[in-house]
Amino acid sequence: MSSSSHFQILGSGAGDANFGAPDTSALPQEDQRRFTCNFLTPDVLIDFNHHTPGALDTFDIDPATIRYLLISHGHFDHFQPLEIIRFAASLPQPLKVFGNSMVIDALELCRNTLYDETSGRFVKHQEPTNLETEKLVLGRRVAVGDVQVTPLLGNHYMNKPYCIMEQQSLNFLIERQEKRIFYGLDSSYMMPQTLDLLAGKPIDLAIMDATFGARQIDPVTSGHHNWIMLDETLDDLRARDCINSRTVIVAAHLSCGNIGVHDEVAPQQADKGITMAYDGLILPL
Ligand SMILES: [Zn+2]
Ligand SMILES: [Zn+2]
Repeated sequence: MSSSSHFQILGSGAGDANFGAPDTSALPQEDQRRFTCNFLTPDVLIDFNHHTPGALDTFDIDPATIRYLLISHGHFDHFQPLEIIRFAASLPQPLKVFGNSMVIDALELCRNTLYDETSGRFVKHQEPTNLETEKLVLGRRVAVGDVQVTPLLGNHYMNKPYCIMEQQSLNFLIERQEKRIFYGLDSSYMMPQTLDLLAGKPIDLAIMDATFGARQIDPVTSGHHNWIMLDETLDDLRARDCINSRTVIVAAHLSCGNIGVHDEVAPQQADKGITMAYDGLILPL
């Protein structure tokens, strides 16, 4: 691992990630996708699931260096409380977890409650956890180690026609000195308040949702982009001077059932200035 500052994709997949499935071991490494997880040097992970500990091992990241965990939302491909508690227990220092109210509540629940499969009931279960938690508030910047993180509202986990936000799905503006990262997983077309908060702030690295690739999707029911919608969102960001010719744009949260083979799709996207994510991809800052 290089010692310079960078962002690394540890899991480029979506809810149908294929990593570890019996029929995928023969695929090129770029087409074996873990559930979403990302690493920002020196000590921050974004999203955490059962593929994450193995990814840290594979990509040579010492777990003991991890101090902070940002959770975008409570879907299982981004958030697995029991895995997080197990991981934290292995660390020399407490793991500080930042997330929405449901994420914090779920971690709190695990402190004294466990689901017992035999009886089909939740039961009391007291176990000390090596965790600290902090609930994020939209638009309110917090210090996470040596970066500043502003939680932004994603367009995801919503029953849109009824305007029912099932839970806040968070995107993040991450700032370190003069560098800005936008973390846009998971989201469909960006929320107007999120575009307003980003307006006029040039982004160095944009991690964008491209879940459905070339498939036609209905924006009413989907909380994701396809390629065409992603291009429209990038135009929205360009119109607000967030994205310019220097911005590194990365397409991630790639559905194995909808995105084609990396070696075929990546050149098409590169023609538009988009880098297709794969597990292990290092993005210098
Ligand atoms: Zn997801
Ligand atoms: Zn999701």
